[in-house]
Amino acid sequence: MRMYDVTGAIFEGMTVYKNKPEKQPKIRPQTNGYVTESRIELDVHTGTHVDAPLHMVVDGETFETIPLEKLVGACKVLDLTDVDDRITQADLERFAIEKGDFLLFKTKNSFSEEFSFEFVYLAHDGAEYLASLGVRGVGTDALGIERSQEGHPTHKTLFAAEIIVIEGLRLQEVEQGEYFLVAAPLKLLGTDAAPARVLLFEGLAVTDS
Ligand SMILES: [Zn+2]
Repeated sequence: MRMYDVTGAIFEGMTVYKNKPEKQPKIRPQTNGYVTESRIELDVHTGTHVDAPLHMVVDGETFETIPLEKLVGACKVLDLTDVDDRITQADLERFAIEKGDFLLFKTKNSFSEEFSFEFVYLAHDGAEYLASLGVRGVGTDALGIERSQEGHPTHKTLFAAEIIVIEGLRLQEVEQGEYFLVAAPLKLLGTDAAPARVLLFEGLAVTDS
């Protein structure tokens, strides 16, 4: 069995959405000379994280409404490294996607640590296609599942279909294939997202629950 940690590291100076300084985490070690307790301040969308509907839906559901069971289980990594700009329905039709799948998109984004204003995102028609198939979740190696599309149609389509959205994965080392996904977000109450440690296991027998 092999384990891949597909989580981005959190530190001051890390890559943040659109390189906005206000999105940088603040880490303040507090010490009295012998005991150290650091204080952190961070956006809930920092690094690898799971979005909740409240993020893009007024009065949407908050983070604790996402059951942990939906964040653990079989997943498929799709190699979309040949895709430029955005992932469309046509790009997704090449794969054997089934109802209940949790899909992780490996794109060009995984090969750069810098924020790209041209990052590959999921197009609205791609999101509608996945909603029609009834997938369980999607994960992207960009810091956003969409790139400031007017009205945020991709997020809204996914949330309306109760599809889990994980952003900020690091998939450079991971080949296309099937894995066992464990996404363990901080147990935050009332928020629109939560940072998560995300692990993929290869060769772990998956039994249907
Ligand atoms: Zn987010």
